[in-house]
Amino acid sequence: MHRKKFIQYITTGATMMTGINTLSSFKTFTDSLPEQEQLMPVLFVGHGSPMNGIEDNEFSKRWIAMAKEIPTPKAVLVVSAHWFTRGTHITAMNFPKTIHDFGGFPKELFDVQYLPPGNPELAKETASLIHTTKVELSHDWGLDHGTWTIVRHMYPKADIPVLQLSIDYTKDAKFHYALAAEIYSLRKKGVLIMGSGNLVHNLGMVAWDKLYTDNYGFDWALKINNTFKELIAAGSHDKLIDYIKLGKEAMLAIPTPEHYLPLIYTLGLKGKQDAVSFFNDKAVGGSLTMTSVKFG
Ligand code: ZN
Repeated sequence: MHRKKFIQYITTGATMMTGINTLSSFKTFTDSLPEQEQLMPVLFVGHGSPMNGIEDNEFSKRWIAMAKEIPTPKAVLVVSAHWFTRGTHITAMNFPKTIHDFGGFPKELFDVQYLPPGNPELAKETASLIHTTKVELSHDWGLDHGTWTIVRHMYPKADIPVLQLSIDYTKDAKFHYALAAEIYSLRKKGVLIMGSGNLVHNLGMVAWDKLYTDNYGFDWALKINNTFKELIAAGSHDKLIDYIKLGKEAMLAIPTPEHYLPLIYTLGLKGKQDAVSFFNDKAVGGSLTMTSVKFG
C-alpha cells in the first residue's frame, strides 16, 4: 500500500453534537433482557489498516471465528480510536450511518455500507450508568472504520444493534478506566463491549516496503508489545494506566493516545474471574501490532 494512502486514513475529530442527555424515566433496553448465564466477554481488538474491513486475511478470519466462539450478543458497544472527542458521547440514533473516515483507498472500501440498527434505549441506559461524566447522546456520528471494519466480519447479517462510545481527549487514562468500570453491568445482559485500537501504533515509523512481510516488527515494537502483554496477563492495570512511565519504547508505541485508550476501557471492564487470552498477536510494517485481547 502506498504510504500516502495509508497515512491518510487517520482521521479523528470532534463532531457537533446535538443530543441531550435526558435521564428522565424511560424503559431501559436491558430490563427486557434476562441476565445471561454466561457473562459476556470483553474484547480489545487491533483494527490496523481499513483494508482489513474487506480483506479475507488471517486477522479478519479470526474475527469471524471469535464471533462464533462467544455467545451471540444482544448488542455491540464499541469504543473506537477514531471517535476522539471533547466530552463523552454515545451514538443514540435508530440507524447509524457507515462513516468512511479515511482517504486514498480503493472504491471497494468506500462502497461498503454496514447498516445494523442502533438502539437509542441502550444508549440512554449506558449514559445513565456513567457518573464520572455527563454523556451526550449523539445523533450525528455513526459507525466509523474502527467499528465497522471489524463488526461486519463478525456479524455480517447486520441484525444486531451496534453503538459507539467516544473517547474524551481532554481526560487521562485513569478517567477512562474508571468510566469503563461503570458500565460493567451491561456484560451481564449480553452486551458485547469492544475496544478498537492498536497497542503499538506509530504510523510515522511504518516500514512501507515491509507492510506485507509476515509478522514484521521493529525490536522496540516487539519489546513493548511483550511488556504490554505481560502486564495485561498479570493484571497490572496501574502500570498500563501510567504507560508514560514504561519508557521510551512506550512513547514510540503511543505517540498519540487514541489507539491505546480503547485497551484501557477493556481493562476497566475486566472482572476478577475473567481469563485473559490473546489473538491476532502479530506485528505489521514494523511499528504496528494487531495484538488483541479477550477477557472472559
Ligand atoms: Zn485506527
